[in-house]
This record gives sequence, C-alpha cells and structure tokens, in this order.
Amino acid sequence: MNCLFCQIAKRELDSDIVYEDDHVVAFSDIQPQAPIHKLIIPRQHIETLNDLNIEHNEIIAHMILTATKLAEDLKIDQDGYRVIFNCNRNGGQAVYHIHLHLLGGRQMTWPPG
Ligand code: AMP
Ligand code: ZN
Repeated sequence: MNCLFCQIAKRELDSDIVYEDDHVVAFSDIQPQAPIHKLIIPRQHIETLNDLNIEHNEIIAHMILTATKLAEDLKIDQDGYRVIFNCNRNGGQAVYHIHLHLLGGRQMTWPPG
C-alpha cells in the first residue's frame, strides 16, 4: 500500500517524530499553519473518519489524549490550541490516513476557512 503516513509510521520516510508508542505516532507537519503544528496518526491504516466504528473508540481516545499531552509538553495548553480532523474533499482532506491536527502558538480565528 502506497500510503505516506504508513511510511512515516514505519520510519520508511523521514519526518520529525515527536512522540510514538505501540498505537500512535506524532510528527511535525511539513507545511506548518501555526508556530506549532503536529499531526497525530494511528499506526493502523484508516482512510477517513467515515471508516470508524465502535471498535475504534480506544484508538481515537488515545489520539486525542496524545494531542492534549503534546499540548502540555509544548506549553500551549494554557494559552489554548485547536485540534482538527478533516474528512474527504469538502473537509479539505489531502492525505487518506486519518490524522489529528494539533495547532497552537497563535490566536486561531473562527469560522475556519
Ligand atoms: P489534511 O489536509 O487534513 O489531509 O492534512 C494533511 C497534512 O499533511 C497537511 O497539513 C500537510 O502539510 C501534511 N503533510 C503532507 N505530507 C507530509 C509529510 N511528508 N510530512 C509531514 N506532514 C505532511
Ligand atoms: Zn496509511
């Protein structure tokens, strides 16, 4: 399977990995949209949010808790940050292996573009 994020998770492709364990990998976004922009992915290949079911409860919770832990480590937890999943074309999804964006270090705006 030719998936960019699976390759990053297996360290077959260079990336700035900031956290990993048996279930998730977190790394710096190559085109950061904020002073801090990390991506948290499951090691398991899941294409979009639409492919999730109740069996994925634990991995999704683990991804979110990894983001909040990273936010604390990176000292953006008190000022605040944003976490985002994009889904399919209208959601702006470009890589079809689910990933949670963690953005921080600046004031976010609303509504998002
Ligand atoms: P999305 O639009 O939600 O699918 O987000 C995909 C994200 O992956 C974008 O923010 C890209 O900048 C990022 N990205 C693409 N290729 C790489 C890579 N090789 N290493 C790190 N981030 C990447
Ligand atoms: Zn993948």
